[in-house]
Amino acid sequence: MVRSIAFIGLGNMGAPMAGNLVKAGYEVTGFDVTPTARNNAADRGVRVMDSVAAAADGADAVISMLPNSALVLEVWAQLAGVVRQGTLAIDSSTIDVEGARAAHKLLPGCLTVDAPVSGGTSGAEAGTLSFMLGGDTPAIEAARPVLEPMAGRIIPCGAAGAGQAAKLCNNMLLGISMIGAAEAFVLGEKLGLEHQAIFDVLSTSSGQCWSVTTYCPVPGPVLASPSNRDYMPGFASALMLKDLRLASQAADDCNVTTPLGAEARQLYEDFVNNGNGARDFSAIIEFLRHYHAVGRG
Ligand code: NAD
Repeated sequence: MVRSIAFIGLGNMGAPMAGNLVKAGYEVTGFDVTPTARNNAADRGVRVMDSVAAAADGADAVISMLPNSALVLEVWAQLAGVVRQGTLAIDSSTIDVEGARAAHKLLPGCLTVDAPVSGGTSGAEAGTLSFMLGGDTPAIEAARPVLEPMAGRIIPCGAAGAGQAAKLCNNMLLGISMIGAAEAFVLGEKLGLEHQAIFDVLSTSSGQCWSVTTYCPVPGPVLASPSNRDYMPGFASALMLKDLRLASQAADDCNVTTPLGAEARQLYEDFVNNGNGARDFSAIIEFLRHYHAVGRG
């Protein structure tokens, strides 16, 4: 039974996730390389240590939440020298599928799971993240109760790497569908339609999708969407671009052609290169409105 958890990577996502584990009664130690992240986590009841090894020493489970594959592999290599056989090890970062599979192999005697999330920082705060899990059945079953305090949904997707694979498929579709929704609004505007009229049709007809009904790229119809707050904060376009790059890489690796995924990646490259990396990804509608003038960056 898991009582103590080490949390490595206490950033925008990691700190609130670790805080929810503290609230659920786990003894949580943590480590991050930046002082701001360490202080934020300490304020949420995490016992912050001064290295990965010190945080993980004696812990029943370890969770990492890091920016990229290289850092996950670096941290998991450090864990290999510290954790006991049978320890539960979960990586919730968004990384490439090959990197995720390599991480599993670094801790052969442990119960290893790749468990990327969707739901963003608000989901991390609220404990309502969707977790997509890859790993063998004993590892997945061991992970469930530990993830529960941070989760709205826990979805087993298959063997090692399957969680990351599912996450990349989802976010590739999300990037494509947001561009599609934005194009529909831009065309409707030019044809003289009111935003509400476009929304009323798209949200109830065959064009319906999450990017319209829950995350509408124009202000007004969906009050909770970032378009009502000048596209800040939200799911940063730089993170959408990261995920679209990972999806492109995965498609190349397995010789699959994803033309719309490639186009979505290129549009977000152009958008981010024009200084929009921190803005919510639905702000791409502003770029598309003037795309005929700016063209490809
Ligand atoms: P972040 O940059 O805020 O946090 C990452 C943290 O890792 C930072 O605090 C950094 O200092 C720390 N770190 C880096 N190297 C480290 C090391 N060697 N040891 C310990 N700590 C180290 O990023 P985030 O927004 O929290 O995202 C984390 C992961 O979650 C990313 O892979 C991201 O793609 C994914 N994700 C983010 C969101 C989101 O909305 N922010 C949503 C879904 C998934």
